[in-house]
Amino acid sequence: MLVFYLGALLPLLPYAFGQHAQETLEAWSLNIPSDFDFNAKRLIEFSPEDPTVWMTEAEKLEAKRQGKFFFDITDNPFIGLSKKEQFTYPKRPNATDAVHNTLNLIQTDNLETTLAHFSSYTTRYYNSFTGKASSEWLADKVDEYVDVYASKSVKPLVEVTHLQHPWLQTSVIVRIAPAGADLTDPTTIVAAHCDSINGENPFYPAPGADDDGSGTVTLLEALRSILESGYIPVTPLEFHFYAGEEGGLLGSQAVVALYELAQRQVKGMIQFDTLAWVAAGTKEALNVMLGTDPALIEFQKKLIDEYVEIPYSESEYPTWLHRGPSSDHASWAKAGYQACHSTEARWEDMNKNNVHTTHDTSDVSDEFSFEHLYHYVRLAIAFGIELSSY
Ligand SMILES: [Zn+2]
Repeated sequence: MLVFYLGALLPLLPYAFGQHAQETLEAWSLNIPSDFDFNAKRLIEFSPEDPTVWMTEAEKLEAKRQGKFFFDITDNPFIGLSKKEQFTYPKRPNATDAVHNTLNLIQTDNLETTLAHFSSYTTRYYNSFTGKASSEWLADKVDEYVDVYASKSVKPLVEVTHLQHPWLQTSVIVRIAPAGADLTDPTTIVAAHCDSINGENPFYPAPGADDDGSGTVTLLEALRSILESGYIPVTPLEFHFYAGEEGGLLGSQAVVALYELAQRQVKGMIQFDTLAWVAAGTKEALNVMLGTDPALIEFQKKLIDEYVEIPYSESEYPTWLHRGPSSDHASWAKAGYQACHSTEARWEDMNKNNVHTTHDTSDVSDEFSFEHLYHYVRLAIAFGIELSSY
């Protein structure tokens, strides 16, 4: 299989790498697991209305390259069979002291340093060895933050899970729960995905600085600030970094399936995906994606009004993509949990030319803005603390 696949790569190499093709090819081949199979059959769901289809891994990647949204439900075909409790949200923010204490601790420099490292892996593709290494680094970073920033009284309340999957990359889950909390207590989830992909070929370089390195480092800094603040939630607060989003929301579906099985309740979930781009000539805003849980959308807007220094914008994915799942919040929504989703800008102003290419880097343009990212750290902190404070 490997030989077949490398053969398929060869015609493209002169365009990408010129005379260095041979060395590069050898370097890439080291990143492909020996059991990786482009002919493996996968069960794909493009939308709830359409019948599911079996396709090969290669055909799935082609659908991805065309920009289609889908669930790969091969490993978790039965999500959403049980009914979920629905929550209402406070009319106005009510944990303002705890939120402001934490907002004051944000260090914007951390966003640059963590992203510089996180986007330095050749790719964070979930089936690659560098994808695995990147999530190991992420887990180590989380452990380091807990070690350095959590006080003596908070440390025993923090649990970090490195969730193994049938592929190489792990998901990372950080749980902060008050003493005596049960697993089934309503949990607040703040999330991003830690993998990246090159749309042309999954083993091509994919720095993924914006998609979704930006979301990952935003969560890291929100987590670090919350730990440093000494905040102890009243109900459990979790940070999720999902593997394999680009393969059809694989990591988040695995987590959702586990939560359903354990009859866990989720008070609210927010997915941060692709956050750093402010297109030239556009007015900077924090974008709320529509088409998710209406009550949570309203709550998200209130938090932005209260705690974020730029206004919100609203947007939807275009009609041809509209019914498909755009990011990991869709896995939770499919299960009947309440989830919402935030992006860098309205769909039409997003960084579409660079994501899923070798050019998804932080220095590709002045439009990549760490100042913009800072506002999302504020929202992540506000969402996490407000919902877990009662
Ligand atoms: Zn993404």
